[in-house]
Amino acid sequence: MIYVKLPRENFTAFFESLKNYGKVYGPVKISESYGFKEVSNVAQLSLEYPRTMIPPKKFFVKPKERIFEFDEEKMEYRETVENTEIVIFGIHPCDINAIKLIDRVYINEMPDKYYQKRRENALLIGVSCHPDEYCFCKSTGTSYATDGFDLFLHEINDGYLVRVATEKGHKVITQNKHLIREVEARDMEDFKENERKRLTEFKLELNISGLQDMLELSHDRAIWREYADKCFGCGTCNLVCPTCRCYDVVDCVNLDLKTGERKRKWDSCMLRKHGLVAGGLNFRPTRVERLRNRFNCKGSLREDMMNCVGCGRCTVYCPADIRYVEVLQKVRGEIK
Ligand code: SF4
Ligand code: SF4
Repeated sequence: MIYVKLPRENFTAFFESLKNYGKVYGPVKISESYGFKEVSNVAQLSLEYPRTMIPPKKFFVKPKERIFEFDEEKMEYRETVENTEIVIFGIHPCDINAIKLIDRVYINEMPDKYYQKRRENALLIGVSCHPDEYCFCKSTGTSYATDGFDLFLHEINDGYLVRVATEKGHKVITQNKHLIREVEARDMEDFKENERKRLTEFKLELNISGLQDMLELSHDRAIWREYADKCFGCGTCNLVCPTCRCYDVVDCVNLDLKTGERKRKWDSCMLRKHGLVAGGLNFRPTRVERLRNRFNCKGSLREDMMNCVGCGRCTVYCPADIRYVEVLQKVRGEIK
């Protein structure tokens, strides 16, 4: 890791320079919420945002996309792998850790060329944040990103201490060396002090020790019925979750019955049809089963880390006010 300093007065010029690397996206305020949108100037950015509604996974696992077109008569098959360079500016550590988790699935376990290309074409720039009452990433071990980004900007008194993690990040810094300074002792002190303070700001905690086993052992407990009775089965919790990555695949055949396209789109395990398979069998027909499955999936350690990065989105956006941490505290027997 290389450490440099970006003085506050050079921030705008640095941001402007990012347009040389591709379309720049950053957090902007949209009504009462926030979202990653294309930004053309610093004034549009809302860097103090708590979380966006839709996580930055949307840049890599597209909500909806065409995978290929086909022509049965001509025996043709045409893939459409997108090749657009983008900069995602202002990602929080929890979302960077979520992207790392999705990388394990879409790059290491089941290489997906569409996903891979988008990841290669993206420059990821993280920004330090402060937790609100819904954040519990300190508990899930994802409050700090050690890698998975190109540059990470930590706010200090008179600018940013920048961590440079990749060659791509290094290139950006080298090309902007007129804007960059060496890190001095007082910058390091600011950085340490800010990180120390930040860790004391977390109000919500979840004890994840042994959680996976406790979830399995809670299979028949009444708690699932209690929450399933409140749940609308709307699927919002999946859509806003930065680690949910299930998708559905559909073939759309044109009226000529020879040509068409294959599409995929985000799916949700909280929807009834998610468990519906050929022959009409539904392997998760009830809301109790779907809710329990989601919590078991999030608490599982299949990818060597929890499938939850503690971002708080599923609680903030649940229309039934089902609070993720509260459910798991009940599973643990910490609250009744
Ligand atoms: S967002 Fe809330 S109401 Fe909707 S499916 Fe998830 S838990 Fe149920
Ligand atoms: S389960 Fe909820 S808190 Fe955890 S990563 Fe997903 S949306 Fe965030």
